[in-house]
This record gives sequence, structure tokens and C-alpha cells, in this order.
Amino acid sequence: MISIDGTLVSEGAGGVYGERMIGEYRVWDPYRSKLAALWYLDRSVDLAGDAVVLYLGAANGTTVSHVADYVEAVYAVEFAPRPMQDLLVVAGRRKNIVPIYGDATQPQRYAPLLEAVDLVYQDVAQPNQAAIAIRHMPFLRSGGRLILMLKTRSVDVRKCPEEVFADTCGELEAAGLRVVAAVWLLPYHADHAAIVCERV
Ligand code: SAM
Repeated sequence: MISIDGTLVSEGAGGVYGERMIGEYRVWDPYRSKLAALWYLDRSVDLAGDAVVLYLGAANGTTVSHVADYVEAVYAVEFAPRPMQDLLVVAGRRKNIVPIYGDATQPQRYAPLLEAVDLVYQDVAQPNQAAIAIRHMPFLRSGGRLILMLKTRSVDVRKCPEEVFADTCGELEAAGLRVVAAVWLLPYHADHAAIVCERV
């Protein structure tokens, strides 16, 4: 991933959502994007130029647009109509974003649109975040990665964040994934952790 004097950027065809520009480069703000926050906290995250990404919880496409600046293709799933409208505009300006208006709890409905992917990135803020990720593992090629952005308060507000975090890692490992990194996203995002797994 590209940084200019320590600032994470991506190289795109102009700005998308009013982000700051450094010349031709789009500044990728860690306070707006959990994936950018993960990069600032753990430089092991990378987006390869030939990677195909399945992105669950695309919202209005701000993070999706940065990911698309780096990789070959992004399948972007979103189920809420309003952000989907914005996502369609973002996808319309690029050749490598496939917007999918679908529910990530029902991947069988959009499975025919997908190909094998190198990275599943999930940011859905739902109670069953691990289960949603596990349902998409058939699309992840062996050796590929899952990055799950865990919003602990969405899973169970009564449990302490560390307990939710440990339970989620346990669920992912029981499904055959290997946890390779786990990073709390403070100071950028409260109550959020990134869990990076490899499909063995
Ligand atoms: N990833 C986005 C970004 O960085 O710009 C922000 C994502 S926002 C925290 C969570 C998104 O997940 C919302 O837009 C929500 O509508 C979507 N979402 C939640 N549950 C979903 C589901 N079951 N299927 C598809 N999208 C879902």
C-alpha cells in the first residue's frame, strides 16, 4: 500500500467523497475507514494488484473505492437501499467494482455472481458477524485471507469487548481458519477490533 510522508493514500481517478488529495493521490482517512485504521496500526495488511476482493457491508462505497484503487476487482455487497444508491454511483465511475444488492446472511442468493476471491473483507456490524464470515469461506481460495471488522457492541452489549473478541476468534478457528493478527482499532474506532485470518 502507498504512503506519502506516512499518510496512507490510494491512486484513483479523482476524488470520490470529498477526501483530501495529495496531487493525484486520494488520502485514505483512518478515522473514516477501519481498513485504513488497520494499516496504521499493523503494517502487515496489504492489497495486491492482482487480488480479487469480496467486500461485505460496502455502505456508500468510500472504503470500497480505496480498495478498488489497489486491486483487480471488488465484489461489493450491501443490503440497505440508501447507501446502495451511492455505491452504484461509485461503481459506475470505475470498471472494477461489482455492486451486489444483497443480504450477506444469504450468500447463496448472489453466489452465481461471484468468483473465487483472495480476500474477504467484512464490516457489517451485526450480532452474527462470525457466522456471516464463515458462510462466505467457500468463496475464499485456500491461503486467502479474511479481515473481519468486529464491532463488539453489535454482538452482545452485556459482554465485555474482550470476551466477545475471544469468542469470535474461537468461532473462526473452529471453522478451520487460522487467526494471524488481531488488532483493536483504538484510537481511530472505539469498540472495534480487526481479526485477520488465513484459510488453511
Ligand atoms: N465498510 C463501510 C466503509 O468502510 O465505508 C462501512 C460499513 S457500515 C459500518 C456497515 C454496513 O453493513 C452498512 O451499510 C449496513 O447496511 C451493511 N450491512 C449490515 N448487515 C448487512 C447484511 N446482512 N448484508 C449486507 N449488508 C449489511
